[in-house]
Amino acid sequence: MITENISLKKYNTFGLNVRADRMVSFKGEENAARFFRQNRDLMQNSLVLGGGSNILFVQDFHGTVIHPVMDEIALEEKKSDYVRISAGAGLEWDRLVEMTVSYGFGGLENLSLVPGLVGGAPVQNIGAYGAEVKDCIEKVRAIDLNDGEVREFTNSECRFSYRDSIFKQDFKGRFLITKVFFRLSTKPRLSLEYGMLKEEISKFGSNSLGNVRKAVISIRQSKLPDPAVTGNAGSFFKNPFVDEAAVKELKLKFPKLPVFREPSGTIKLAAGWLIEQCGWKGKRIGDAGVHERQALVLINHGNASGKEIWLLSEEIRKSVYDKFGINLVREVEIVGTT
Ligand SMILES: Cc1cc2nc3c(=O)[nH]c(=O)nc-3n(C[C@H](O)[C@H](O)[C@H](O)COP(=O)(O)OP(=O)(O)OC[C@H]3O[C@@H](n4cnc5c(N)ncnc54)[C@H](O)[C@@H]3O)c2cc1C
Repeated sequence: MITENISLKKYNTFGLNVRADRMVSFKGEENAARFFRQNRDLMQNSLVLGGGSNILFVQDFHGTVIHPVMDEIALEEKKSDYVRISAGAGLEWDRLVEMTVSYGFGGLENLSLVPGLVGGAPVQNIGAYGAEVKDCIEKVRAIDLNDGEVREFTNSECRFSYRDSIFKQDFKGRFLITKVFFRLSTKPRLSLEYGMLKEEISKFGSNSLGNVRKAVISIRQSKLPDPAVTGNAGSFFKNPFVDEAAVKELKLKFPKLPVFREPSGTIKLAAGWLIEQCGWKGKRIGDAGVHERQALVLINHGNASGKEIWLLSEEIRKSVYDKFGINLVREVEIVGTT
């Protein structure tokens, strides 16, 4: 279905009232592939938009927005200790998590309540509460916007890393992901080591998949603003990685600096802490603001434009650089010219 001159307000979680020249929605893979083959001119300037929960529009989009609505779920294979499941790119991510948890299939429970659609999940390798979606993805099916060819990417071909994949790098904007294949455990091992998860789960009873989901939802709802109420896109910046020498130097000046050493040997800092130390928590410039409980989340108090939110993010980057010498990288994708 094609809609011309459409408002994207309900298609982005910042709630920005930007417009696109047109939007094309696809329920079937065949229709999408044919459309791409027959409308190469319209694909010259295109953007795949899922739930719009990791995007900041800084102006109207003068091109074609491609919106997947394929939302089928299929049980591909069932073995004694695992299942293989496929889910359409247009399915709401949390509906998939809810369903897999209800069937007792483990792997996605720590990623409960992450907004967005299934197709967006591999793009930035969503992660939360010690889990990353890459650990459950078997393959990703996609259509090349250039020629309508269908291609499947194995897990290693997706080149997943922290909030990153090939779909954000070499193949940025080139493919429409149509289906994601997951391998989930029928004998799940719970991952409760992250933050307050263990403490929170005890409020709900025994350690079970369902209670992990409840605990994650409860923590998320207490910490993060609901995009249906306050426009936001979750963490606006990535957590920075540094080396041992940098930690040593920073610790001399900032002894309370939280440092996270990962099993792989990498060292991560908390972007939210750095931003908070620069005095940004709860601040606002016009209607663009920093969340009062989580400095990593930028919010739209009502009538901010995308440009104003971007300008606020620039101010934050500048002050973090001046104080700590660290360049924050945005996790949210900026669409348009700033
Ligand atoms: C309140 C809140 C909390 C959040 N918490 C987390 C969190 O804990 N962890 C986390 O990792 N993220 C989090 N996010 C960010 C966001 O929810 C995820 O990145 C999500 O996976 C984005 O999916 P989407 O469908 O909204 O993608 P969009 O925002 O629509 O798109 C993001 C990018 O993916 C591309 N894309 C989307 N769908 C497809 C597709 N089918 N084919 C090809 N490309 C596609 C787009 O072109 C764009 O480049 C949060 C966001 C909010 C608002």
